[in-house]
Amino acid sequence: AKEDGKNRIVAYEQKMREGIVNVLAVENDLKRALKAREFQAYYQPIVNLADGTLYGFEALARWIHPERGMVNPGEFIPVAEDTGLIVELGSQILEQACTTMNQWREKYPIANNLTVAVNISAKQFAESSLPTEVEDILQRSGLPSDNLKLEITETVVMLDAMKSVNQLNFLKSLGVMLSIDDFGTGYSSMSYLQKFPTDQLKIDLSFVQRMEKAPENIEIIRAIVNMAHSLRLRVVAEGIETERQRDLLYSLQCDYGQGYLYSRPLPEKEAEDFVKNSD
Ligand code: C2E
Ligand code: CA
Ligand code: CA
Ligand code: CA
Repeated sequence: AKEDGKNRIVAYEQKMREGIVNVLAVENDLKRALKAREFQAYYQPIVNLADGTLYGFEALARWIHPERGMVNPGEFIPVAEDTGLIVELGSQILEQACTTMNQWREKYPIANNLTVAVNISAKQFAESSLPTEVEDILQRSGLPSDNLKLEITETVVMLDAMKSVNQLNFLKSLGVMLSIDDFGTGYSSMSYLQKFPTDQLKIDLSFVQRMEKAPENIEIIRAIVNMAHSLRLRVVAEGIETERQRDLLYSLQCDYGQGYLYSRPLPEKEAEDFVKNSD
C-alpha cells in the first residue's frame, strides 16, 4: 500500500511537470502567434428577441494556428490570462472589432445602429491605461463610441466593486456601452449594480441551457430580468439553441438573444453577409 501511494505521487509529479511544460509551450507559441497576428475576431450575431432583427455582434477570439488549424478560446484564454499575454491579445481583438465594424458602417446604413461587443479580461480591466487605450483605438478605427460595447464579467466587476465603479465611469465617459457578462454566476451586490454605469446584463448560458430540465432556472431568469429592468438595464440571453428556449426567454421579457439558433460565431466575411442581408 505504501508503494502504491509512492507510485501515485510519482505519477502526479510527472503529470504536474508535463502540465508546466505544456503551459510554457503554449505561452511561447502564444507570443509567437501574437507577433504573427494569428488571432482573428469571429462575430456572433445578437438579435432582438421580439422580431429576430439584428442588434449587433459579439467578437470572439479564434486562433488560426498554422499547424493545429482553428483553436477555440477555452484552450488559450486561460494561459493568456495567467501569463498576462491577454492584454496584447485583447487589444488586437478590440482593434479588429472596431476596424471591422467601422468598415461595415461605411458600407451599410444599418450598421450605424449596430454595436460590436468585445470581451475585456480581468487583467485588462485592472489596467488604469484601459480607458486611454479604448479611446485611441476608437480614434484610429473611426468607430463612434456608441457602436462599441465592452463586456466585463460579473466576477471581475464585483471582485473590487469600489474600484470597478471608477474604472467603469472612466470607460462610460468615452461614450461606450457597458455590459456585465456571465451574469448570475457570481455574487452581485444590488447596491453596487445600481452604482455601475452599465447598460446591460448578459445572462450566462448555463441558466438558458438548464431552463427546461430544471425549471427553477426560469424563476432565476425572471428575477434577473425584473431586477435589471427596474435598474433600466437591458438583458441579453446567450446560448439560445432552440425555439422553445427563445419563446420562454421572450415571454420572460428578455430583450436580446444570442446563440446557435440564430448563428454560430462567423468569420468576418460571413458576418458581413449577415449585415448586408439585414440592410
Ligand atoms: P463568453 O464571453 O461567455 O462567450 C460566449 C461563449 O458561448 C462563446 O464561446 C460562444 O461561442 C458560445 N456560444 C454562443 N452561442 C452558443 C450556443 O447556442 N450554445 C453553446 N453551447 N455555446 C454558445 P467561445 O467563443 O468558445 O468563447 C469562450 C469564452 O472565451 C468566452 O465566453 C470568453 O469568456 C472568452 N473569450 C473569447 N474571446 C475572447 C476575447 O477576445 N477576450 C477575452 N478576454 N475573452 C474571450
Ligand atoms: Ca474605415
Ligand atoms: Ca462575452
Ligand atoms: Ca458566458
